[in-house]
Amino acid sequence: MKLYASTLKQTGTARFDWRALSHKLWSSDLQFGSTRGGLVLMAMLVAGALLSETGVHYGLFELGALLRAKTVVAFANVRELLLSELDAVVASWLVIGIGARVLFGVAAAVLDMLFYRKITGRRFDWEGMVNLAVVNVIFLCTALLTFMNASFQVPLRWYESLISRVPTLLELDGNLAVIAACLAGDLCFYWSHRLCHKVRLFWNLGHINHHRARDMSQLTHSVDPHALFLDTAGGKVFVLLFLPLATKLFTADLSGSGWALVAVMAIDVWLNPSHSVFLYQAEIRLRVLRWFRWLLVTPAVHYTHHSREPRHNISDGANFAARFSLWDRLFGTYVEPPAYIPETGLYGEQVDYCRNPLRFVLLPYVKLYRELRDHELKYWPAILFGPTSWQPRPRAKAQGQHGDELRGARAAAPGARLRPGLAQPRGAHTSMPAAAGTVIAAEEVACAIQSSRGSEGHASVSV
Ligand SMILES: [Zn+2]
Ligand SMILES: [Zn+2]
Repeated sequence: MKLYASTLKQTGTARFDWRALSHKLWSSDLQFGSTRGGLVLMAMLVAGALLSETGVHYGLFELGALLRAKTVVAFANVRELLLSELDAVVASWLVIGIGARVLFGVAAAVLDMLFYRKITGRRFDWEGMVNLAVVNVIFLCTALLTFMNASFQVPLRWYESLISRVPTLLELDGNLAVIAACLAGDLCFYWSHRLCHKVRLFWNLGHINHHRARDMSQLTHSVDPHALFLDTAGGKVFVLLFLPLATKLFTADLSGSGWALVAVMAIDVWLNPSHSVFLYQAEIRLRVLRWFRWLLVTPAVHYTHHSREPRHNISDGANFAARFSLWDRLFGTYVEPPAYIPETGLYGEQVDYCRNPLRFVLLPYVKLYRELRDHELKYWPAILFGPTSWQPRPRAKAQGQHGDELRGARAAAPGARLRPGLAQPRGAHTSMPAAAGTVIAAEEVACAIQSSRGSEGHASVSV
């Protein structure tokens, strides 16, 4: 308390120093000590994070409700299926498949936690796990906040009425419907994902969060902020807007698809835990699993999407598809996963990873606010919607403000890539994606200093 209170000589009373407290809350990073108290605290927080991630995020708590469900959502972005409309045996296997997907995801998460050091040789990021569990709850709640907002419903209703006027050109059912729905859904995901790696707003306020985690595993990665600006900040504009349009043009009736639906579900059980080091290791050891990479986005293929190695940076990233490697091969963005587990993180010595939920969530907004504040209105379109590899020219005032801190950061984080601050022409792509080499702001510097002091020795890591 003495840190935040100062004595007033005149009155003899203590005044709470909110400024010092807010500075402490903003700049501190979670770090567990090796004392008995520190270890007990760590055990409690890790248990809470594990419950939150497996129970809420991966759906373990919903398994009971699944057994009584009359409708199921088998795949993301596919509308609910009425189980009574399916063949009874197929419906049972579909429910078993959904349950297996939850349990397999939980198993992969726990195995990652237990064997992370054995597999990678690096310490499991316990602090990162707790931090990201809190962050994920916040990001998942953003969907509720968005949809509870009445004004948000207006454009949604307008879009729905627009879609209702689109004529259906092709009626598909059975196995053809499943294949068409899978390919169309994944194509939409591919372009929306690639878009949110390309456009500053989508990247800096949304998808960057998914790529910030260092020492990534199934339990140490963040989701995108949900439903923020219709999920456009997460780059899902094509999935949310284009997919309904596409599936209106051709209507796929999945209820008649039978065993093809169960087969797709079985594949999804394996592919879904795509951030797992345990499943990556399984692919390194078993050649038969690697054969599937010709067609599917196996866990190792998506894990490589999070690699921070420059050779994996084909087009501000690589391996953008969710389920079919076909799209990356077709559009030239496929990279073969290496025979070792690559270090994950942002390209370049990006330093805005931290283990402080408050700073983790708010820092991207602070950075964007500063960019807008420090530049004239004519630069705002480029700041918001320019390519991620473009950086606005810092004003002299801003340079002066941060000059000493930048030099400090260079000293604190040797090898950190600092942009010289010269404006690049719009559209000029550098070897590092946007996310990457950014002019480092004061908060990032604090983060860099703390990261470089961290005992994990991963100052050069992370998605
Ligand atoms: Zn991505
Ligand atoms: Zn990912």
